[in-house]
Formats: sequence, structure tokens, C-alpha cells
Amino acid sequence: MTMENIRVRFAPSPTGALHIGGVRTALYNYLLAKKHGGTFILRIEDTDRTRYVPGAEDYILEALEWCGLIPDEGPTTGGELGPYRQSERKDIYQEYAQNLVDNGKAYYAFDTPEELDARRQEEKEKGNHSFRYDSSNRHEMNNSLDMSEADLASRLSSGEPYTIRLKVPRDETVRFQDIVRGEVAFQSNELDDKILVKGDGMPTYHMANIVDDHLMKISHVIRGEEWLSSTAHHVLLYRFLDWEDEMPKFAHLPLILKPNGKGKLSKRTGAQLGIPVFPLDWKVENPEDSFVGFREFGFDPAAVVNFLAFLGWNPGTEQEIFNLDELVQAFDLEKISKGGAKFDFDKAKWYNQQYIMATDNHKLAEKVRPIIEANGHQPDDKYLAAVCGMMKERVTFYPDFWKNAAFFFQDGYDYDEKTVRKKWKEEHRSAFDQLQLRLKNLSQYNDPGIKGEVESFMQDHGLKYGDVLPILRIALSGTTKGPSIFEIMELLGKEEVDKRITKAYSIFDTL
Ligand code: GLU
Repeated sequence: MTMENIRVRFAPSPTGALHIGGVRTALYNYLLAKKHGGTFILRIEDTDRTRYVPGAEDYILEALEWCGLIPDEGPTTGGELGPYRQSERKDIYQEYAQNLVDNGKAYYAFDTPEELDARRQEEKEKGNHSFRYDSSNRHEMNNSLDMSEADLASRLSSGEPYTIRLKVPRDETVRFQDIVRGEVAFQSNELDDKILVKGDGMPTYHMANIVDDHLMKISHVIRGEEWLSSTAHHVLLYRFLDWEDEMPKFAHLPLILKPNGKGKLSKRTGAQLGIPVFPLDWKVENPEDSFVGFREFGFDPAAVVNFLAFLGWNPGTEQEIFNLDELVQAFDLEKISKGGAKFDFDKAKWYNQQYIMATDNHKLAEKVRPIIEANGHQPDDKYLAAVCGMMKERVTFYPDFWKNAAFFFQDGYDYDEKTVRKKWKEEHRSAFDQLQLRLKNLSQYNDPGIKGEVESFMQDHGLKYGDVLPILRIALSGTTKGPSIFEIMELLGKEEVDKRITKAYSIFDTL
């Protein structure tokens, strides 16, 4: 494949929150463009005003930015072949629709919604549940195909609403090459006469998409599998507009499936399984239409990007961890798989853990700081970085740095009472007091120093790790889980440890 002048577009419709599958589409477009020094374009396909949702465009921009997929051309960046919002290009499409009508490739249809409904009903009664306006029945419909010129002219000038429909040829096999699927063929008799221009004068997706892909010199159309069947119509449009030679190459991405592989991942899947399927939170009045985002769930965008890249693509090697630049280098359209890709949330978690573990403690501290501050604490950088270093192998999401490590910032926590009852023994009580005293008097108050002191104390009293450490841990952190207790003590510092021990002992005595 020659890879000159790669121009690709991500063309979402602002009809709500951008699904994570859309982010994958954007990512693959971005990767192809960057790999070949090409251009990644964002085009907002907002011609369907009935489905327009305020805020959706901002959401798209923010989601792309969060993932680091910054468009080279787009509604906010600008570019030579704009505008990049279809609602601002309305006049452009008119000319091409007219051209199609003039050349007999499209026609005016005056069927009202009521007439179409009645026809649909009639077909239903005959047992035909999917009425299609197509080459088999177009001559029975209310359109310009069998209308006299005078009749047509008067109807057009009367202001009667009309649509423009594509006149799909009969008895033809429409073929095209898909980079992922190879040759794809559709029988033209199975294709409906798609509406190109709607009653409100706005082009439909099909019309606007083809005109814009052409005018924006798009070299590759990379999009979800759900658009595969529309591509047959698009191929006809390219031909009818005489643009066949410059038709972009197509690559239809595999579906993203539910984690169990049964059916398509939908926006409801997230709510059902308690997992995010959107990049960012989307909050609207109706809670059923509000969604939680990967970002708010506590993911690092680099982990999300890495995870998404592997939903339908792999480099053909064992390597799984790729940052965005490495993905750019490794990406290859030819390695996209045809089969649906399971949305394995455990894998997403694994990626996040890998990224957190690989991040430098000070960088982690920067990411974690807002979460700790939101909980009312302002630790200094060094302290926070040390906490991050001790916790990073024990967390999955960023908020876990608070959830699992709040004791580093405050001493208000519940004690694991069950363990205390088991380990807080009458006969060891005075020994524990001595331990507190020895720790208070310890001069080398660091991890090895504390460890040495605790061990020599154990020896003096004939106690084992299991007799002492759980009690110390619970006194200092509430639980028996966590990083090395000696490291925790070094970080908390002698005074804080002593204070916590005093408080804990007095409570343990009452249990
Ligand atoms: N506006 C379409 C969408 O919302 C774009 C499909 C395409 O990329 O052609 O997905």
C-alpha cells in the first residue's frame, strides 16, 4: 500500500456521550495518520438536528484531548479545508445533490411521513415487516420519477416539502475493497433508495459524509463495522459524482463485544456490569442516561489508549505495553482483525496497574494529589511521592491511593477488630508497652533500624512476628494489609507512630 498524503477523519455525530468504541475509531485513525506523517481530522457530523445534543461536541473534544489524540484539523483547530462542522457547510451539499438529480442519479420524493407510514402498515399486513423504499417499488411512490416536468416544477415552487433520494441501480453487484475484510459485495436490489437531502433541506449523513470526504481529500475511511452496508451506497455516490478514481480506501473495524463475548458492547452494558464504557463522565438529568467515565473511574489515559488499541488489533508480537508513540510506530491497518473484540475489563485494569507501577513516584504524586486534596489533605511532595512509591504495586485505580492509603494522611480509621481480639492478649500487654517505649527511644528511626529494634524486642520476649506485627499494623493503619510496616513507620515518623500506638492500645483494651 502506498502511504502518501494520508488524510483521515474521525467523524462523530454529537448525539450524546462519545462511546468508548468511538474513541477506538479515533485512535486507529490517529495512529495511521501519525505513522505516515499524515493528517488527522476531526469533523463534527451534526446535520441531524433532531438528534443534536448540546454539550456532546465539547465532550468529544475533551475525550480526545484526554487521550492525547489531538486533531491536526478540526472545528477548534481550523484548517484549510474547513469548516469542519457539517451544519456550517449546508450550502456546499446542495450543489452536489442538484448535480445528482440533474444527472438522473437521484430524484425528488414527495411522500409525506403519513403516506410512508400507511405504506409500511399495508406491507405489514401482507406479512412484510421491513418496508424498503427501493428500486422494486419506487415507481409506486409519490416521486418525480414518473412526473411531468410541469407538474414537478409546480410542486417544487409551491413550497411543498420534499426529500431527495438516491436512485440505486437495479440488478447490479456493488463491490468494494475493504482493508480489513477484503472484497465486500452487496446486491443493489437489496439496497434502499437512501434519502440524501431531508425535508428541512439538510443533507443526510450519507450525502454530507461523501461530499466532505471528497472535499477534505480523505485518503482512508476507518470506521465501525456498522457502516459497512452504507458503504455500498457511498460507492454508488462516488461513482455518480464522478469521483470514483479518488474514492478513499475503506477499513471497517470489528465490533466491540460485551466482556462475555455475547453481543455488542452497548452503553447499557456499562451500567449492567458496573464498568465504564465511556471515556469521561456524562452527567444529565435522567440518571439512566448518565454514564461513568474511564477517567473518573481512575484510569490513566495512556492505559486506556493501550487497552483500546488492542481491541481489534495486535502487533503480532508478545509485546503488550505500548505508549502512544510506540503504537504509532507499530500500528498497521493490515493487522486489524475481522472478528469482534471482547471488552475485557480485567485487561483494562491490568493495563492501568502496569502503567501505575511504571510511573515515577513524583509523577504519580502529581496525578494523585487532586484526589488527596479533595479529601482535605495537603501532603508535601516528598511525602506524597513516598506514599505513591509504597502503594503503587497495591492499587488498580488512582482513587485507590486514597481508598487504600488514607491512613498515611490521617489517623481516623476503623480497626480490624476481629484480628485485634485474637492477637491482643492479656499476657503480652506489658510487653507491648515496652515495645512502644523502645520505639520511642530508638535513635535510628528508619526501616532497618525499626526492624532491628522490633526483632530484638521479639527475641527478648519470646514473641513471633505473628504476635507483634498484626497489632502494630492495625494500630498504625487499621488493617493488616499494606506495604512493609517498617517502611510505613519510617514515613509516618516517630512522633506520629507513638501517638497512634497510644490511642490504639487504649481502644484495644476495651475490645
Ligand atoms: N457520523 C458517523 C458516526 O457518527 C460517521 C461514520 C463515518 O465515519 O463515516 O459514526
